[in-house]
This record gives sequence, structure tokens and C-alpha cells, in this order.
Amino acid sequence: MNQRQLDLPCMLGDVGLSEEAGEDGTDTDVTNRGELHVHLNGAIPAATIREILIDEATALPADFQFERDLVRTEPCQSLAEYLTAWQFLRLFPRKRENLDRLTLAAVAGLAENKVSFVELRSSVLYLAALQKCSPAQALERLIESTGEAAQRHGIRRGLIVTVTRGDYSAVNLSTLLQAYQDLGEPKDVIGLDLAGDEEMAYPAELPSLFREAKDRFGLGITIHAGETGRVENVWSAVEHFGADRIGHGTAAGKDPELLELLSARGICVEVCPISNRLTGAVPTDEAHPLQQFRRYGVPFVICSDNPAIHDRGLADDQAAAMAEGLSIGDMQQQYEVAKRYSFMKDLN
Ligand SMILES: [Zn+2]
Repeated sequence: MNQRQLDLPCMLGDVGLSEEAGEDGTDTDVTNRGELHVHLNGAIPAATIREILIDEATALPADFQFERDLVRTEPCQSLAEYLTAWQFLRLFPRKRENLDRLTLAAVAGLAENKVSFVELRSSVLYLAALQKCSPAQALERLIESTGEAAQRHGIRRGLIVTVTRGDYSAVNLSTLLQAYQDLGEPKDVIGLDLAGDEEMAYPAELPSLFREAKDRFGLGITIHAGETGRVENVWSAVEHFGADRIGHGTAAGKDPELLELLSARGICVEVCPISNRLTGAVPTDEAHPLQQFRRYGVPFVICSDNPAIHDRGLADDQAAAMAEGLSIGDMQQQYEVAKRYSFMKDLN
């Protein structure tokens, strides 16, 4: 582990975005934040997860340790290591009331970070399996639960439905879109996301299914791409999936032609600085590509990805972005940038 890895937590503390004043006494004026890339099950505080697992008497691996296996505060050897927490993040909630409990806790964490609007992601189908209900019922529960939690905290929220890469991605997307139609195309659902292992192949028809959903329902498209160095996945996201936004996109920083394309088309990169360092998407001895995004005029929004897994929040990600070279001025523009590239309508 090099110095940069060791420095990450203190680095964040050192440049923590004061709500009153910056390091140089300048008013940072960060009174509102918009969050465009956060996974619901990566935003549940560890204490809430523990309560739910106990309540549902969920069996965990014998060698499971909460602090070691859930929270990530130091760079992982690989994205796979970072993702080990998802082995049990998909074991709950089996009870409807625990869905309410976890969404309330996740949204409370966003409120603490002065988030006034959020696009929450969930892959819905695991919830249907856990709660032994149809995909449409699972989506309806998610809409109700997140809607109530957001209302209680005075936050506006939209839902992005996540599809996981792999053999079943096309079937799963069709199932999810059918559920969405069965519910009368609720306005709460604002977009589609592709996530999961970027090395994994997917059916040839998947990109056209995304584009059709965009054209037919007006859903925004965001694709996790370029997080593990595969720049071709970013190209594919833009040219085949019709992506409006790119999740992470860190590999794009090394491809000037792609940076020019992202800039020309106004495709926004969802930059998650803490996540990128912890997953190794940005090697510890390299500068974060957000400087490249800025240089080429590629729009970007700072996001938190899985704040509870990092034991951090969006405010910390903004501080991390400043540690990576952004200015207070950049940060002051973030709320407006997030609004501009949000899939939610009528944000004022
Ligand atoms: Zn993500």
C-alpha cells in the first residue's frame, strides 16, 4: 500500500467541505446537493442491516464479520473484493416492513448530506424473489417505500431500475419493463441502468432493448462502463445502448477521441471519487480522470455510489473530488449540473 492509499481517509478530513466556509475562508455555499448515482442497498447503514438480519434470522457465513466484510475504507485488491458485501446485501429484506426500515435509513443518510433530490437505483428482481411477490408488486413496494421515506425527509426522489450484466440481462430487462407497464408506467421510474461485472458478456439484443425503452417510455439510460479499464464498454454504452450518462467511465480518461465524443454529445459522467479509489478503478499512483473530463469539457456529476459501504456520504465525495483537484467553484456548480443531467423532470 502506498502513501496515497494511506492518506485517503485523512485527506478527506483535511479538505472536508465546510458548510460555512472553505479552507481559505471562502463561502462554499454547498447548501443543496443532487445525487445521481447511488445504489439503494449500498446506502443502508451497517447498524440497520444488522437489525434487519437479526429480525429476519438470516443465516450468514460462519466466518462473516460485519466490519471486515461490509464496510470498505481501504482500497481493495479488485472490484470483486469490493463487491463481496453484495453476497449478503441480497439476503434481505424478506419482510415488507424491513424494506420501509432500510429505505428510511438510506434516505436519512442522504438528508444528512443535504441531498435535496436523488435518483435511487435498485435491481428490483431480487426483492421480488425475497418477498415472494411478482416483479410488479416488488416495484410497487419500492416506489411506495422510497416515496414515503423521501417525503418524510423532504427529498425528491426518482427510481432507476438496474439490470445486471450477464446471460439473463435481456430477459430480466423485459421482465422489469413489463412490471413497469403493468403498473401504468409510473412517473417515479425515471431511468434504466446496466451494472455488474464488465468482463461478462450479454445477449446481442440487450443494447437495442435499452434504446427501445428510451424511445418508447422516455426513460433515461445510464450504463456502468469503463470502471475496470474497458474503454470499449464506454464506447458501446454511447454508440449501442444510447447512454445519456455513464457510471464511473474512468477508462475514458485515457481516450481523447472518446472524451471528445462525450463532450460533443453532452454525455454526463457520474464520478464517484471515493468508490473509484476503493475499487481500484483509479490506480493509487494515477491522477483521477476527472481532470481530463474537465479539460475536454465532458460534463460530470460527483456521486457517492455506495455511501454506507464506504462509511461516508456525498459531502465526503465532494471533498474527495476537491482533493483530486476540483475547486470550490466547481463544487458550487455541482447542484446545477446535477439538475441539468438528472432524469427527473421539473427540478427547480
Ligand atoms: Zn454504481
